[in-house]
Amino acid sequence: MAEHRETQAIRLQMKRTGEKEHSTPLYLTSSFVYDTAEDMAAAFSNDELDVNIYSRFSNPTVDEFIAKIAALENTEDGIATGTGMAAIFATFMTFLSKGDHIISASAVFGSTHTILTKYLPKWGIEASYFNMASPESIASLIRPNTKMLYVETPSNPGLDILDIEAVSEICKKYDILFVVDNCFATPAVQQPIPLGADLVLHSATKFIDGQGRVLGGVVVGRKELIHPLYLFVRNTGPSMSPFNAWVLSKSLETLYLRMDRHAENAMRIASALQGHSAINGVKYPFLPTHPQYDIARKQMRNGGGIVTFELKGGVDAGRHFLNNLKMLSMTNNLGDSRSIASHPASTTHSKLSDAERAEVGITPGLIRISIGLEHPDDILQDILQAMPVK
Ligand SMILES: *Cc1c(COP(=O)(O)O)cnc(C)c1O
Repeated sequence: MAEHRETQAIRLQMKRTGEKEHSTPLYLTSSFVYDTAEDMAAAFSNDELDVNIYSRFSNPTVDEFIAKIAALENTEDGIATGTGMAAIFATFMTFLSKGDHIISASAVFGSTHTILTKYLPKWGIEASYFNMASPESIASLIRPNTKMLYVETPSNPGLDILDIEAVSEICKKYDILFVVDNCFATPAVQQPIPLGADLVLHSATKFIDGQGRVLGGVVVGRKELIHPLYLFVRNTGPSMSPFNAWVLSKSLETLYLRMDRHAENAMRIASALQGHSAINGVKYPFLPTHPQYDIARKQMRNGGGIVTFELKGGVDAGRHFLNNLKMLSMTNNLGDSRSIASHPASTTHSKLSDAERAEVGITPGLIRISIGLEHPDDILQDILQAMPVK
């Protein structure tokens, strides 16, 4: 197999049908047949995945998507799920048991936070939180029953960056499973596993699909960690649809190309917005003003596709901005070829208090832009004309 991940994203193929099709075939089938009763009995004789039985367990199209992501993340194996949240939930359920403790960054995706605070306690699993700005506090949160450390870097929507290598050293010392949600970066920008993470997961719904079409999730890592996850998915059923896997597998062929353009556009727009009179500041991992700029430069290939800025006028200014956009879409998704604007304080995080929002890096005037693949001048022009003060 070719060495470069760019090539693997395009060329890695599972077995083809007798038609010798060039592109990825879609195996839209719920189950697979056997030639003899003995073959059927053998298929069920162990938990290993050596033959396709039923698409909840495995499917060639889903396997191709998993193999590509595992190669791109520089690791051995993976599982795929119907959504990103299913991947996160499967990871918690597989590796945490009653009486265990998990440490998480306080700034994580909203539904992830809900699983940690509302559902895990039902099974007697406790969580502690650390602020992404002070990772040195992690050590003080470790208990004898701490089993997992969970982070997003860059975080959503605060764009905080965590030093993956430094945190992995703490996890190794205390024998804690280190799980990274790599959704904002994608493997084209950052590979946490070679930096010391144990498992990497994604909402494939975002940049991996890249065109806002399908939902999906994936977890990758060493074979011995993936095996219990595989059994969890096989038995409890959050499996990925072969159709979605086919869409996502084709998307991976353009991932590097797309992420380079997302980042190029994002850098251009973030730089142009610096010093604008309507905003207090712009945040982008590759702007030297980012608080963790040095860490971002060390572990990311580019700054990714998300830019945030803070409008001076608070919540009202945020509403004004959204209402005055002419091209950018107002929607909750991100990582799309179409640029998207969102205002967390009046939408996704409106139920939190100002103090709770501040803890996860959301100020009243914070605007998150998922920079798309349109011409950067058109994106910038729309942002500038929607500003409350020109
Ligand atoms: C969207 C998102 C998720 C959840 O993924 P779904 O596919 O919507 O279930 C998890 N983590 C991050 C960082 C996200 O942006």
